[in-house]
Amino acid sequence: MPEYDVILAGGHVLDPRNRLDGRMDLAISGGKVERVEPEIDHDLASEVVDVSGKWLMPGMIDTHVHVAGSHSTWDPALGYRMLAAAGTTTAIDFGGTPETLIDGMQRMGSGMNVGGLYVMVPGQTIPRDDPPPAEVRRIVSEAVSRGALGIKMIGGYYPFTPEVTATIIAECNRQRAYIGFHLGTKESGSRLDGLREVPALVGNGRLHVAHVNAYCRGSIKRPVEECEEAIQILTARREHYVSEVHQAVPNGTSGRCDLHGNVEADVARNCLKLRNYPTTADGIRQAIKDGYASVIREKDHAVVYVGGREALAMFDELETDCPLSFPVNLPATAFHLTTAKDRTGEFVVDAIATDGGSHPRNIAIESTMALVKFGALSPLEMATKLSWNPARMFALPSKGHLGVGADADVTVIDPAAGKATMAIVDGKPIMRDGRVLGSGGRLLVTEAGRKVAEASGLPFQVLDLTSSKLYAGYGG
Ligand SMILES: [Zn+2]
Repeated sequence: MPEYDVILAGGHVLDPRNRLDGRMDLAISGGKVERVEPEIDHDLASEVVDVSGKWLMPGMIDTHVHVAGSHSTWDPALGYRMLAAAGTTTAIDFGGTPETLIDGMQRMGSGMNVGGLYVMVPGQTIPRDDPPPAEVRRIVSEAVSRGALGIKMIGGYYPFTPEVTATIIAECNRQRAYIGFHLGTKESGSRLDGLREVPALVGNGRLHVAHVNAYCRGSIKRPVEECEEAIQILTARREHYVSEVHQAVPNGTSGRCDLHGNVEADVARNCLKLRNYPTTADGIRQAIKDGYASVIREKDHAVVYVGGREALAMFDELETDCPLSFPVNLPATAFHLTTAKDRTGEFVVDAIATDGGSHPRNIAIESTMALVKFGALSPLEMATKLSWNPARMFALPSKGHLGVGADADVTVIDPAAGKATMAIVDGKPIMRDGRVLGSGGRLLVTEAGRKVAEASGLPFQVLDLTSSKLYAGYGG
């Protein structure tokens, strides 16, 4: 009887927690890492996969994706395959409901570990935009018992008053539910002013600040000054926040206009203002004609950006309620915030995410590899931001590293091509050379969501968020 199911042989293992940075064989049995050593006898394994010349890091954990919820022009569940193709092994949805998440995994899952936050959309997922504290309490506890890991507020689209926002954060903290926030309230924008408001909203609590780079697009000060202020705000009270950056230039937003033809979403208005377009339906039409705005849509089972006539026709056909993308995320901002460290040498922003999934911008590995080639990050730092820190953010102690007993989730990277060539979950490939092999997936829930997870028929894992980085040392 062979001792191991598989040996990944001869790759360069990158494991920041266990300080592994060199050529190793990695032996896997029963979905767990059994041995990591420079030489393991290949005869001890049923299967040997030659990964010489490749980099092996703990599986990529994408802490901000979109695979659940609903969109008018595409099926978000397409994102499961798109993420696996990019090398992702674990993903956290930041914009749906547990029901749409589970349904998508069952229909189109790609074998990843997947958890999700419950998005607060007044009139759709919650009754109104001014819930009193007792109602907030009920919304949060119902969300986790339906299988969510916590709550996502999208202030750039459905802002609450600062008071209601603070109540939601405090209630999530009280229940130790995860709380992610796309910044913006009725008194601040989804910009640097939204970030300035955060310390007062959070008080002594805890918050995941979503895509910090998206608030440093140069709306208020020069982008580099916005980055410096963002870093100051985050480092001044760093135990209160976890955060992530994405590195794709195109964003995702909504073109929806009110009855007077005025653009509703703060995010879309900001994009138009950045290039001096009117914040109206005609402004969007002009931005599409000029090639500044694109429409996001499904085509041949993929999600793509389209421009020109096709985009204009869709914008009108959907009566403006149309997903749009603008090339507004500045590479210099992403670079600055990705690489910034505090005085103790810790990264200011914990993770690199994609804000992708079904948005066609799952480039975190490719862009981070470019930073490694540039010398801005070491290979171990790449693994820290793509896997080890994300594992800590979401209380996944057996992920994010490749120590003995860890889950055998591995992302294999071709350093010459600068992208993932294999994604392995529980010792089995879910993607090889861009081909997605996995299906279904493992649902990540809290104890409150156990019943729903059992009823889903999917394999599941219960997370204890009290031990997450978000709630580390939190006594409130
Ligand atoms: Zn997002």
